[in-house]
Amino acid sequence: MDIRLNSLDKTIINCKKCPRLVKFIHKISIEKRKQNMDEIYWAKPVPGFGNLNSKLAIVGLAPAAHGGTRTGRAFTGDKSGDFLFRCLYEVGISNNPYSKNLKDNLKLNCTYITNILKCVPPKDKPQRNELSNCSEFFDKEISSLKKIKSYSYTWKNSF
Ligand code: SF4
Repeated sequence: MDIRLNSLDKTIINCKKCPRLVKFIHKISIEKRKQNMDEIYWAKPVPGFGNLNSKLAIVGLAPAAHGGTRTGRAFTGDKSGDFLFRCLYEVGISNNPYSKNLKDNLKLNCTYITNILKCVPPKDKPQRNELSNCSEFFDKEISSLKKIKSYSYTWKNSF
C-alpha cells in the first residue's frame, strides 16, 4: 500500500460526513447477526485495498452489512467475497482463495478492490447526497492507480 493511499484510508476510516450511514453502521455493529455474536465488528467506513500499480479495479456499490462492515475489508466475510476470492486465486490475482479479515496476509497482484460508497446504506439504497459525499474518496482512489488509464469521471453525473 502506497503512502498516499494509507493517508486516504485514514481519512476514510474517520469520516462521519453521512449521519444516516454512521448511525446505521453503529446499529448493525451492536445488534450483529446470529453467527457473529461473539465478534467485535469493524463498525467504521471501509476503504479499498490493493496497490498503486494495479491494472484492474474491482468495484462494488458498498460494503456488506455483516461482511466488510464486520471485517473492515471490502468483499470480505460474505458470500460474494468468498466467490470473488476463489476466482481471483484461480487466475493468480490473489495469494489465497479466501479473504477472512485484515490479518489474513492476503495479497493482490496488480489489482485494487473497493466500493463506490465506503459505508453500508440501509436496504443497500444510498441517497444521492451520500453518493456525492463519498465520490471524492472514490475519485482519489482510482486516480491514484498509475496503470488504470480509462477511468471516466462522468459516473457521478448519472445519479
Ligand atoms: S459514505 Fe463515505 S462520505 Fe459518507 S460517512 Fe461513509 S465514508 Fe464518509
